[in-house]
Amino acid sequence: MNRPVPTFIKPVSYLIPIAIGTPISHLKSNSYFAPMQFKQIVGQYAIKQRLINSVKENRVSHAQLFLGPGGAGSLPLAVAYAQYLSCLDQGDDDSCGVCSSCRKYQKLAHPDLHFSYPFFAKHKEDTALTFIEQWREAFLNNPYLNLDNWRASLEAENKQANINIAECHQIIKKLSFKPFESAFKVLILWLPEYLDKQGNALLKIIEEPQPNTLFLLVAENQDQILNTILSRTQLIKIPSLTYDEIKSYLVEQRHQTEAAAAETAYLSNGSLTEALSLLQHGNKGYHQLFVQWLRHCFANKGLEIIPFVDQAAKMGRENQKNFFRYGINFIRECCLILSGAANLVHLPPAELETAQKMTAVMNISAANAIIAELEQAHYHIERNANPKILFLDVSLQLVKILSFKTIRQQWRTPYIPN
Ligand SMILES: [Zn+2]
Repeated sequence: MNRPVPTFIKPVSYLIPIAIGTPISHLKSNSYFAPMQFKQIVGQYAIKQRLINSVKENRVSHAQLFLGPGGAGSLPLAVAYAQYLSCLDQGDDDSCGVCSSCRKYQKLAHPDLHFSYPFFAKHKEDTALTFIEQWREAFLNNPYLNLDNWRASLEAENKQANINIAECHQIIKKLSFKPFESAFKVLILWLPEYLDKQGNALLKIIEEPQPNTLFLLVAENQDQILNTILSRTQLIKIPSLTYDEIKSYLVEQRHQTEAAAAETAYLSNGSLTEALSLLQHGNKGYHQLFVQWLRHCFANKGLEIIPFVDQAAKMGRENQKNFFRYGINFIRECCLILSGAANLVHLPPAELETAQKMTAVMNISAANAIIAELEQAHYHIERNANPKILFLDVSLQLVKILSFKTIRQQWRTPYIPN
């Protein structure tokens, strides 16, 4: 079939809309579970519509930055968008999922689809391409992956990730070739936060792109992106998922009960990555373990704390992170009760009862100090702290807060927003 060639819009001042007739089809796909169509992405209806409209109205900017918190779906959205653009039989609201282009996209094997991402170079000439097989596998396994998942799949737990200069040169090289099959080629750069100064090598291709190239950057932290890159891309802000979006996904796609889905959705804080991790590792038992720990710390029972530390140290990193996250959420609920907003508390009945008892032995500054300790511990666990030393240290801090009613200086001054 004759397919019109899409033309990408250059940044800001270069806006030259060119009218093309986008073929419209209502072909339904039956490959529901195959990545990556819009309909497989949880929530984000407004963003999907905006992306689709940009194609229909021929306003596709050639350098775009998808910016959203982890677990909101920025990366799968970028892939689905590229697949939609490349699809030979575009529907009104999605790619067809069955044409030759979609089939290659579904394996991330389209010759005009390129990826760049942080990696853990063993040799200085390593580029993202060195790890492409692992990348395809990791993404197809979980399109909502985060850097931790990616690090784990490369078995590079202690290594520093970055996008090196060799990779920047590789990107420039890839984008200088003509497209092979599609009317254009796409480069999806995941986590440009890891570019460092080398990223400036890319400015020229962002500013003066080759014809028919699309550059999609997918980021989480605006503050950590080079300003020079930020100012040259069109920003697409992607919000966190809502509690209801995650809950319905868990009930409808993952066959969770209403109660289990509600609890996981609540703990996941708008991140599907977190929800999937909780689903995989389960959150059963955290409540009991956590409350028991607080009781021992409150009673300053060193003899009971040591076995807890041993047990917690053996849980594994993902479980330890989930345990701290559970604790943070639980104490936040206690804060709600302490502030007289018990009607906003989301806990199941048994946990609610415990939370009410807990609030009898702590005030709001103690609760805030516990949250700060747990958040710091979560941060350190992510960065490979020794779990035994960490759990022992946090336990001692909790003893000070709960039993001796002293709070570390750094947690004492509350942050008051303007
Ligand atoms: Zn298609």
